[in-house]
Amino acid sequence: MTNYFPLIDSHCHLDFPEFDPDRSQVLTAAFGKGVEAICIPGTESDRWEPLLQMCTDIQKPMKLFVALGIHPWFVSQHEPNDLQRLAKRLETNDHIVAVGEAGLDFALQSVNRKAQMLWFTEQLELARQFDKPVILHARKAHDLILKQLRQKPVNQGGIVHAFSGSEQQACQYIEQGFCLGFGGSITYPRARKTRALAASLPLSSIVLETDAPDTPLCGFQGQRNEPAQLAVVLETLAELRQETKAEIAEATRLNTIKILSLFP
Ligand SMILES: [Zn+2]
Repeated sequence: MTNYFPLIDSHCHLDFPEFDPDRSQVLTAAFGKGVEAICIPGTESDRWEPLLQMCTDIQKPMKLFVALGIHPWFVSQHEPNDLQRLAKRLETNDHIVAVGEAGLDFALQSVNRKAQMLWFTEQLELARQFDKPVILHARKAHDLILKQLRQKPVNQGGIVHAFSGSEQQACQYIEQGFCLGFGGSITYPRARKTRALAASLPLSSIVLETDAPDTPLCGFQGQRNEPAQLAVVLETLAELRQETKAEIAEATRLNTIKILSLFP
C-alpha cells in the first residue's frame, strides 16, 4: 500500500542548474511521495527572473511558491540598485511569498561580515515595508540576528532554514514569530543536538525542508538531493518525536501554509 501524506517542502532550490536535465521528472517523483507544494527561495538577483519564468513554464503536478532575496554568500556581487529591483518585484508580483533567502553566514570567511550585515538589514527592512515573512539563512550568527529582530521585529516572522542553533535560540526565534526548518541534517546520527531539538520543540514551530539539491540525507552523501526525499525527513522526524507521520505531516504542512500565507 502506498502510504503518503501531503507535505510542503519549505526550502528547495529547484532553479539550480543541477535540475536542468530532469526538473519535471524531479517534480513528478516528489509529487509521488506526497509533496504537494514547494517553496523556492531566491539567491541572487541574476537568477530572480529565470526563477519566476521557470515556475510559469514548467510542467508541474504541484504548486510552486517563490521567495526573492539575496543570499549572504552572494552579497558582494550585488549593488544598491538590486534592492530597488527587489522592492519593485515585491510590490508588483503577488506570487512572491517571502523575502529570502537572506541572513548572515559567519561560517563563511570569504564574504565580508559588514557587507553581509548591510544586505541583511536592508532586506529585513523590505520585509517590514511589504509585510512579508523572511526565509533566513543563519550560520554562526544566531545571536546577532536575534538582536536585530528584537530591536526591530519583522511583522510576519518567517522560517529559519536548516536550523542548527541552541534550544534557547530556537525559543527566541519562536518568540519573534519564526518557525524552524528541519531537513536532511536530522537523518545523521551524529547531529545529536539538532536531532534532540527537532524531537523536543513544539510541533507548532516546525516546518520541513530538503534544501535540494544541497544537504543530501544520510546514506546519500555526494549525491544530488531531491524534494522527493522530504518523505524520508518526515519519517525520521516521526521516529525522533515518537509521533505519527500523519500528525507531523499535517502539522508541518499547516505551519508552512500559515507562516508563508500559501494557497490564498
Ligand atoms: Zn537555501
